[in-house]
Amino acid sequence: MNAPSSLDSLVPDVQPREVPDVLIDALKTVFGDRCSTARAVREQHGRDESSFDVPPPAAVVYAESTADVSRLVQLAGQHAVPVIPYGAGSSIEGQLLAVQGGISLDLSRMDQVLSVNPEDLTVTVQPGVTRRQLNDVLKSDGFFFPIDPGADASIGGMASTRASGTNAVRYGTMRENVLALEVVAASGEVIRTGTRAKKSSAGYDLTRLIVGAEGTLGVITEITLRIHPLPEAVSAAICSFPSLDAAVQTTIQTIQLGVPIARCELLDANTVRLVNRHSHTELPESPMLLMEFHGSPTAVKEQAELVQELATDLGGNDFAWATTPEERTRLWTARHNAYFAGVQSIPGARAVTTDVCVPISRLADSLGAAIDDANASGIPYFMVGHVGDGNFHMGYLIDPADPAQREGAERLNQTLVERAIAMGGTCTGEHGIGLHKMRFLATETGEGSVAMMRAIKQALDPKNILNPGKIFSL
Ligand SMILES: Cc1cc2nc3c(=O)[nH]c(=O)nc-3n(C[C@H](O)[C@H](O)[C@H](O)COP(=O)(O)OP(=O)(O)OC[C@H]3O[C@@H](n4cnc5c(N)ncnc54)[C@H](O)[C@@H]3O)c2cc1C
Repeated sequence: MNAPSSLDSLVPDVQPREVPDVLIDALKTVFGDRCSTARAVREQHGRDESSFDVPPPAAVVYAESTADVSRLVQLAGQHAVPVIPYGAGSSIEGQLLAVQGGISLDLSRMDQVLSVNPEDLTVTVQPGVTRRQLNDVLKSDGFFFPIDPGADASIGGMASTRASGTNAVRYGTMRENVLALEVVAASGEVIRTGTRAKKSSAGYDLTRLIVGAEGTLGVITEITLRIHPLPEAVSAAICSFPSLDAAVQTTIQTIQLGVPIARCELLDANTVRLVNRHSHTELPESPMLLMEFHGSPTAVKEQAELVQELATDLGGNDFAWATTPEERTRLWTARHNAYFAGVQSIPGARAVTTDVCVPISRLADSLGAAIDDANASGIPYFMVGHVGDGNFHMGYLIDPADPAQREGAERLNQTLVERAIAMGGTCTGEHGIGLHKMRFLATETGEGSVAMMRAIKQALDPKNILNPGKIFSL
């Protein structure tokens, strides 16, 4: 393992680039009151859910069209000033921070669902559409879009972090669900990638290159997504276990048997307690799997019976079913709020969040070791996992003003990541690299891969204006 042991420089020591007055004047002329230099607006756009503090961008521009995006990128490019695309601001790894200064490009006003194509199971949206907004539109036609990060993130942001969520075990991540993009390149040119066809062998897969690029290669201005018919039957259940290991073993066996479970989420006993307090639920305070099954009524019954049998063999209690849509919504809302339940359990705390993902056969080892290390450290934490995917999050709760606590949490993360990589896994299953995981990228992918990423970045963005200083340093 060659990840550096020093934790001193998680935020690279790079001087912010100068944003000349002439550029701000030009932006105000072009965008009027859609260009703001108000401190509160800049500060709101200069932070995310990470625990880093970095000075805010010099200005925020609200785009309302692809032409706006292209114009802004061209103007910023003339002065080699960074442009940081901003969706809903829910990213966790420092992706939005203006580490080299520059302009925040807010895409939330590009929020139109442009077309729904039920016959082809596709939808085309602007990047500021949020996942909940999209599902409200699709519901009336009998469809849904399954990718559901806990926050009400924007589709542009989700594509850019290659997000997933609780449904990924059955429906895949943004990687599988984005078909085509419209992108504004660093030159300001508007390009298209992919088509609405289900598959294509036409040249390099630029769609997959932009998905997960965290705004470093282009600004996404339109996205065509796969959508899915609302399942005929849905059943959600919780099951408590005598130990975390029993819950994990149930998950591993479920996946290895090929049960097409739609959601399989793990909470440890402490996190269930925090969730109960935060969401006023009365879930049994032991290790717990939250599950959902989709399909025909018969298929759902079969899947549930099989998993129930596996759980019982491992000491799991009877399933408690959430039978009505309202109960299911309450259950999944509580699960989605587990992050806030954790962070808000200690006044003033911030979470150093981990995101490892390992092959399913190594999940028990990876998770067990993470819990042992966290307990030994004395640092308070919460734990939630999209365990059906082998992906789980430890949230180490620290006082952001105490360097020793941050150091301790980062050391736990480093150990966790190194172990996951040694097991054939990744430092980030869904949150992305941002700033926080930059130092693990070469360890995971090898120097040759990072060199290829650098070459792509330098070819597509020679002035390094698109969200510079993220994923890797140049
Ligand atoms: C409580 C909570 C739970 C979460 N749970 C999950 C989870 O289960 N799964 C998961 O994957 N994530 C999760 N996240 C993280 C976060 O929601 C995702 O990373 C999400 O995809 C970010 O979307 P956003 O719209 O907020 O993007 P932002 O935070 O605004 O931006 C994220 C990145 O994308 C870039 N970007 C944004 N829009 C564009 C665009 N149009 N073109 C190019 N680049 C763009 C930004 O520059 C930045 O680098 C969670 C976060 C919170 C706070």
